[in-house]
Amino acid sequence: MKRLLPILLTLGVVSLGMVAAQQLPPGQIMPRPAEGRQPEFPQPGIREYHPRSTLVVPEHKVPKAKFPVIDFHHHPPRSMTVQDVNEVGDAMAPLNLGLMINANATSSDRLKPAMDAIAASRYKGKMVMFTGLDLRNVGPGSGQKIAAQLEADIKAGALGVGELMKSFGLTIKKADGTRLHIDDPELDPVWETAARLKIPVFMHTADPAEFFQPLDYNNERWLELAIYPDRRYQDRSRFPSFEELMAERDRLIARHPNTIWVLAHMGWHANDLARLGKIFDAHPNVYGELGAVLYDIGRQPHTAHDFFVKYQDRIIFGKDSFQPDEYPYYWRVFETNDEYFDYYRDYHAFWKLYGIGLPDTVLKKIYYANALRITPNLPRAGFPAN
Ligand SMILES: [Zn+2]
Repeated sequence: MKRLLPILLTLGVVSLGMVAAQQLPPGQIMPRPAEGRQPEFPQPGIREYHPRSTLVVPEHKVPKAKFPVIDFHHHPPRSMTVQDVNEVGDAMAPLNLGLMINANATSSDRLKPAMDAIAASRYKGKMVMFTGLDLRNVGPGSGQKIAAQLEADIKAGALGVGELMKSFGLTIKKADGTRLHIDDPELDPVWETAARLKIPVFMHTADPAEFFQPLDYNNERWLELAIYPDRRYQDRSRFPSFEELMAERDRLIARHPNTIWVLAHMGWHANDLARLGKIFDAHPNVYGELGAVLYDIGRQPHTAHDFFVKYQDRIIFGKDSFQPDEYPYYWRVFETNDEYFDYYRDYHAFWKLYGIGLPDTVLKKIYYANALRITPNLPRAGFPAN
C-alpha cells in the first residue's frame, strides 16, 4: 500500500489534469487551489483592467529614428491638397522621416493633381506617388488594358504600384460575377509590365489569420473583431479562407519571378516568421513591409532579431495609418533592447513589446536602403550613401 499510494495519487492528478485541461487557460497545467473560487468584486471588462507594471528596467524612448526613414506605406488624406501635403511634411522632420510613398492606390486621373500638390507644397521631393489599378469587372482583354494604363501612369511620374488593397482576392468581382482570384491569368500582362518597367508592386493580401477564424474567447483578435464588423471574414459563403488567399498569392509570385513583389504587413506572417522566411528563400523577388505588425515583431525579440539580421535585404519599413505619435514605438522596437513596454492600441495586442536591438547596418537597410534599391527614381537626397 505504501508503494501503491504515490502511484494512485499520480494517476489521480494526471486524470484530473486531463479532465480539467479543456477548461484551463493555456499554460496552466493543473487546477490551482483557488479554482472555482470567484472574485469577491465585480470583474473588470476586457478594456478596463490595466495593471500598472512594477517592473523597473532601463528605458530608452526613441522620438526620432537614428537614420532617415522612407515610409513605404503612407496614407495621406485622399484629398491630397497642398495643405494636406504640408501637414504631413511638418510631422516628418521631428521623426526623421525623409520620404513618404503615397500608397493610396491613386487613380490615373488623380495622379497629376496629386503630383502638382506635392510640387507646390513646402515638401517638394519628400513625397512620391504610386499608382492604383482598377481591378473591378475584369474580363477578357482587361489585363492588356490595365497594363497599358499602368505604363502610362509610370510615364506620367508614378514610381510603383500600390497599394493593391485587401479587396483584391477578398471581395472584388470579375465581370462574370465570380470572385477575382489573385492569380487570375487575365492579369498576367499587368505583372509582366511591372517587371519590364522594374517597378515594385506593393500588395496587401487578406488580413490577420485570426480575422478568418471563429470569433470565440480563444481568438487573439476577439476585441478588434468585436469592435469592427467589417473585419469578420468567417462566413465562407462570402469570403475565401486565409489559406486560399495565401495559396493564390504564392502561385502569383511563383509565376512572375521577375516582378518585384512587396508584401504589405509582412504578408500577415509576422506571427510566423519561419513561414515568411520560406517565401523569401524560394522567391528572391519578394520583400516584406512592416506596416501595422509591430505587435508581432515586438513580442518575439529573439526570433525577430535573428530574422531581421538574416533577411536584412528583404525587409522594408512602412507604417500604414499616419499617426505621427505612433512612429516612435517602431523606432524603440527596432533600435533598443528595452523590455516589456506598452503598445499603443489595445485591440491589436493586449501584450507588451520588447526591443529587438538591430545593428546600424540592418537599420539603414530596412529604414531606406532596401526601398531605394528596389524602387528606381526615388529621390535619394538626404539618405546616406552607405
Ligand atoms: Zn495600406
